[in-house]
Amino acid sequence: MKLMQLADACICCGGHDLASSPAVLMPFVASRALGQEPLEITAEWGLRDLRPGMAYTLCHSLQCRACGALFLDYRFTPAQMAALYEGYRGPAYTQQRERFEPGYAATVAQDYTRRHAYIAEVEAWLAPRLPERPLILDWGGGDGSNTPFLGRARVQVHDISGAALAEGAERADPHATPDHDLLVCTQVLEHVADPLAVLQELLPLMAPHTLLYLEVPHEALVRQHPPGTDLTPRKRHWHEHVNFFTENSLRRLAARTGLCVADTLRLPFDNGARQGEVLSLLLTKENP
Ligand SMILES: [Zn+2]
Repeated sequence: MKLMQLADACICCGGHDLASSPAVLMPFVASRALGQEPLEITAEWGLRDLRPGMAYTLCHSLQCRACGALFLDYRFTPAQMAALYEGYRGPAYTQQRERFEPGYAATVAQDYTRRHAYIAEVEAWLAPRLPERPLILDWGGGDGSNTPFLGRARVQVHDISGAALAEGAERADPHATPDHDLLVCTQVLEHVADPLAVLQELLPLMAPHTLLYLEVPHEALVRQHPPGTDLTPRKRHWHEHVNFFTENSLRRLAARTGLCVADTLRLPFDNGARQGEVLSLLLTKENP
């Protein structure tokens, strides 16, 4: 049995100089991943040393003082990750989440059912570096509906969910020799227990000419404070994004795999329901 670990080093640069503050794991995640439910402590318990109130799953916010990465101390096991993401955003998932987060189905969930508008800007940024009709592999791309160049390129998708693929996307052959022009990994690293392991998994999928487009959310908390600010006392709750990246932390992470940074992108978006910014690196195997 693989046991859940608590991070004792930076998930990006491996550094050990970490700031720490207590926080709570949001009940939906605690329920899905750990099987825990909030618990009300009442006077009827008759316990002298506990104050009545709600008990939630305690955790810690950790931040690396070297690279700025901010992350949850819990590092979920593969089984816990599978439990958390089973049927992701499907009917049962949405119903369970609605129980803990009333209004989820009506607002947030709707936002994920259509292609994000900012992807057109990502395509415009990438296109000059790619052939006319590139071969693309989207790693962790869900059903492929948000894969850049869908409908304008040959798009292959690898995803553990096994979701039915969007029109124009095909299932990737895991045994094929890598020859993609572009490898895409978007909105994945903020969810995973070990971002370095995910990047290392991508390396054998890259041919010498393959570009890797790596995209994560540039979280508001990170954007709105100057580098060097201790964000741990301001990060009081954790949800499905368990890793908040700074540009520096993402660069340090990439450097540990030997990949070279060809370019960076910060792209604000506003789709009405949600405003935010994505932070992306374009990576190559050889120095550009
Ligand atoms: Zn670090």
